[in-house]
Amino acid sequence: MEKDVDINKAARQHAEMDNFFTGGFAVRDSRAEQKQPKIDTAAVAEAAKELEKIADEVRQCRKCDLGSLRTNAVPGEGNPNARIVFVGEGPGADEDAQGRPFVGRAGQLLDRVITAMGLKRSDVFICNILKCRPPENRDPRPDEIISCLPYLQRQIELINPEIIVALGAHAARTLLNTNKSIGQLRGQFQQYYAGLGRPPIKLMPTYHTAYLLRNYSQENRKRVWEDMKKVLTELGLPIPERGRK
Ligand code: URA
Repeated sequence: MEKDVDINKAARQHAEMDNFFTGGFAVRDSRAEQKQPKIDTAAVAEAAKELEKIADEVRQCRKCDLGSLRTNAVPGEGNPNARIVFVGEGPGADEDAQGRPFVGRAGQLLDRVITAMGLKRSDVFICNILKCRPPENRDPRPDEIISCLPYLQRQIELINPEIIVALGAHAARTLLNTNKSIGQLRGQFQQYYAGLGRPPIKLMPTYHTAYLLRNYSQENRKRVWEDMKKVLTELGLPIPERGRK
């Protein structure tokens, strides 16, 4: 999760990351808009309504101790008809303060990744394994994950995305029910089993953007971008010019 960092380093990383992911090409339209399947508007409206019901339940939730420690629950947000769902670990301080996922520094970097993919934040759905912030951004505990996971499972079932991007080890391990490291898992499509009778959903594990900020190397940024290119290719979406190299 996000940790406090040197402000000058943060500003430099921000500028460099901006250049790496978005510099040099103008994103005119959302690429997702280029895919124009027939949208079942009634079904999407129904999914939006059900997602809001889940969000309300999350905001009332006291299933674990985190419910009494939070400022705001962070259910997740985005397009109920998203082709991609990004899943992080759990809210940090900024997310807890605002009740929205990925709005701190790791979130700003995730926004840049999404923009570099030729997409907008409103094209995708963004959420977390835990819906409430663990104190001091400590790792999620197994009992907290067990209490919280049904909310995420229901969100995924309603959205039924083509691809889940698991950001970091906690999201990947939880959704894949494995103890493998993120280094072993990332970069290759895995299967998320959504339940009996439902086809598995492709899941791409990649580094968490907070990890990327802490381990800021050209190599790591490239790895994340390679993973996102695989996601775009799988969806039949164009890889923006800048990212081809
Ligand atoms: N890190 C996460 O895993 N999730 C957020 O929402 C923000 C930071």
